Amino acid sequence: TVRVRFAPSPTGMFHVGGARSALQNWIYAKQHDGVFVLRIEDTDAARNRPEWTDGILNALDWIGIERGTYEGPYFQSSYARAHREAAERLRESGRAYYCECTRDEVQARTGNQYTGYDGYCRDRGLPPGPGRALRFRTPDEGQTVVMDLVRGSVVTENANIEDFVIARADGSPVFLLANVVDDATMGITHVMRAEEHLPNTPKQQLLWEALGHRPPIWAHVPIVVNEKRQKLSKRRDKVALESYRDEGYLADAMRNYLMLLGWAPSGNREIVPWSVIEEEFRLEDVNPSPAFFDEKKLRAFNGEYIRAMSVEEFTEACQPWLTGTPAAPGGAPVPAPPWDPGDFDPKVFAAVAPLAQTRVAVLSEIVPNVDFLFLPEPAIDEAAWAKAMKEGSADLLGAAVAAFENAPWDAESLKTALEAVGAERGLKLGKAQAPVRVAVTGRSVGLPLFESLEVLGRERTLARLRAALS
Ligand code: GLU
Repeated sequence: TVRVRFAPSPTGMFHVGGARSALQNWIYAKQHDGVFVLRIEDTDAARNRPEWTDGILNALDWIGIERGTYEGPYFQSSYARAHREAAERLRESGRAYYCECTRDEVQARTGNQYTGYDGYCRDRGLPPGPGRALRFRTPDEGQTVVMDLVRGSVVTENANIEDFVIARADGSPVFLLANVVDDATMGITHVMRAEEHLPNTPKQQLLWEALGHRPPIWAHVPIVVNEKRQKLSKRRDKVALESYRDEGYLADAMRNYLMLLGWAPSGNREIVPWSVIEEEFRLEDVNPSPAFFDEKKLRAFNGEYIRAMSVEEFTEACQPWLTGTPAAPGGAPVPAPPWDPGDFDPKVFAAVAPLAQTRVAVLSEIVPNVDFLFLPEPAIDEAAWAKAMKEGSADLLGAAVAAFENAPWDAESLKTALEAVGAERGLKLGKAQAPVRVAVTGRSVGLPLFESLEVLGRERTLARLRAALS
């Protein structure tokens, strides 16, 4: 049976590229009635933190890879003994040897450029000792042929693979070895991961063989880059899946978008039900060139997913931002809304929810769209205020107050009333609306104005207009 794994290192927030690999593995397992294994590679004690592991598990849950539906999580740290035994077996069988060369020494021997280990200690037969690392003896002849579902077969001359370290001088096995030992022990048949590991692969395949196993099929999916074609980096780019979640991206939009990095469903479609992706995705069809992670496009995607919800679903999805609670179980609380919780009225929200739903691309944007309804006074955007409150605005607002005092309180009548006020001053409705909108909502953009006024009510609308005049 097909056994795949996702093997993240818990050294930080969960990278969107990792999420993509996880989904691809997940789908591959599903398509082949296989097993998805989760292994947390927590052997870098200096950089690991348990909260990063929780973060990964929660983010996987969020994106649809739920605890209890896969095998694991296993923790690499609990297999340390197997890693050491494997290193020892390789040494006993002559496939590995102790080496005490420093990098500087190798460099001094080979000239200025360090092009790999020169094999100096290969046949010295050194016993273990302080400062001695264990190196794998790579074959001098032949080729290593890696079968890669995305790239076809990748051929490396063994002569070009250096004798690489498998255990450090303190005896601890390195990533290359631990990763292979775990994959072999867990019966992994397909290793699908990011392209950055491609240079490791011939070495790892040699280890699989040396340990007496048939190597897996590999698949190295393209790196993810930003708009400048730079590899997405934690320092420069928004890479954490958690940040998208906590900002109000929908899991369905996110996973749909992630699967489009280097691949597309049939029929020129991009937004498709997950079931279509599960059916159509083929690693063989993944484009090996770098995939552009387009935040703008993701945002537009998310807006489409939001608009496709029922109003009830939308209202439900907005709750974390309306109440300041986590966006998903295990997530960080989102920023508390600016209003007093006691002033929030679900009925008032329900009245504007359909209007907001068409305007919000990311759920957190619900707050600035509706805050004027729940704050005692609008939160004023100073720049918008300065722009709207110019000469003639006071006159216009005064006339609007007079007109609104007597108008029936519904959107249509309010519009007619303000239209008339504007017309008397030679202003089109748009121009006449601007100062009213800023006075009442504090902002220059937002929900349709007259519906907003209707929901806000006569008393509060007039009070705000008068306050703007004083
Ligand atoms: N822990 C490694 C990483 O996060 C796993 C690499 C692999 O999938 O083999 O990059």
